[in-house]
Amino acid sequence: MFGWLRRLRDDAVRQSREWMIRCTVCGSERSVFEAGGIRYGAWGKKPTSGHCRTCGKRQRMVVYHPTRGPL
Ligand SMILES: [Zn+2]
Repeated sequence: MFGWLRRLRDDAVRQSREWMIRCTVCGSERSVFEAGGIRYGAWGKKPTSGHCRTCGKRQRMVVYHPTRGPL
């Protein structure tokens, strides 16, 4: 009964592991999953904001896929 739900969740986890988020200020990047962002299909085409560990504060971030390129 909840198979589709688990599938959706697994998909979200897998996708968030693949997608990278990069700080537009210092250029450091990490996986969206590592950044704690499991937001299935919620990433827009425009830069978003997120916490950058290197900068130590919120910055403008871009989410992109290593093989598929930027959104
Ligand atoms: Zn940064």
